[in-house]
Amino acid sequence: MEHRPMGLSRVIIVPHPDDEILFLYSYVKDRRKGDLYYSVTLPKGIRSHYWVRVFGGGTLGLEDKGKYVDGEYAGSDWIPNLEQGLEQLEKELSLDDNSEIIVPGTSYLYGHKHHVQLCDMMKKVFVEKDRIKWYLTETEQMDKEIMFLKEYPDQKHILNQDDIRDYLDFGVEVALVFGVK
Ligand SMILES: [Zn+2]
Repeated sequence: MEHRPMGLSRVIIVPHPDDEILFLYSYVKDRRKGDLYYSVTLPKGIRSHYWVRVFGGGTLGLEDKGKYVDGEYAGSDWIPNLEQGLEQLEKELSLDDNSEIIVPGTSYLYGHKHHVQLCDMMKKVFVEKDRIKWYLTETEQMDKEIMFLKEYPDQKHILNQDDIRDYLDFGVEVALVFGVK
C-alpha cells in the first residue's frame, strides 16, 4: 500500500456527501494526503458546503432523475449518465493499474437507489479487485457518530432514520475496491 506512485493515490466515490463518514468511516478516519473524494450528486445547501470544506470533495455533477420521468417509472436509471460520468472521471484523473477506486458496498445493508446504482455501474466500468470488511468496536461506532455530527451537523436527523440506525447498529462497513479494466 505504501508503494504508490507519485501523484494519485486513492479515489473515493460516494453517491452523496456524508456517505463517506456513514459508510466508509474506517477509511475516512485516517485519510491520507492525496486521497480524492467525489460525490456523484451534490445536493443543494449546506451539506455540499461541508463536503467541499472538510474533504475538498469533488463531484461528478450528475442530477437525480427522480422516481418518475414523463410519467414513466425511472427504473434503475436513477442517475442518468452515471456510466459516462465514471468513464469521464477515469479519463480526467488518468487512472491506471495502480489506482484504487473505492465505493461503499452498501447494497444489501442500506439499499438507497443511488447506492445500488453506483455499485452496479462501478462493476460495468471498472473491475472489482477487493472487498474490505470492518467490524467496528463500540468505541469506533461512537467516534463515527461524533465525527458525523461534527462535520455534518445539519444532517443530525438521519442518525435516527430507521434504515440508517439499523445499519449503524450493525457496526459493519464494507468497501468495494475497483481498478481500471
Ligand atoms: Zn447516500
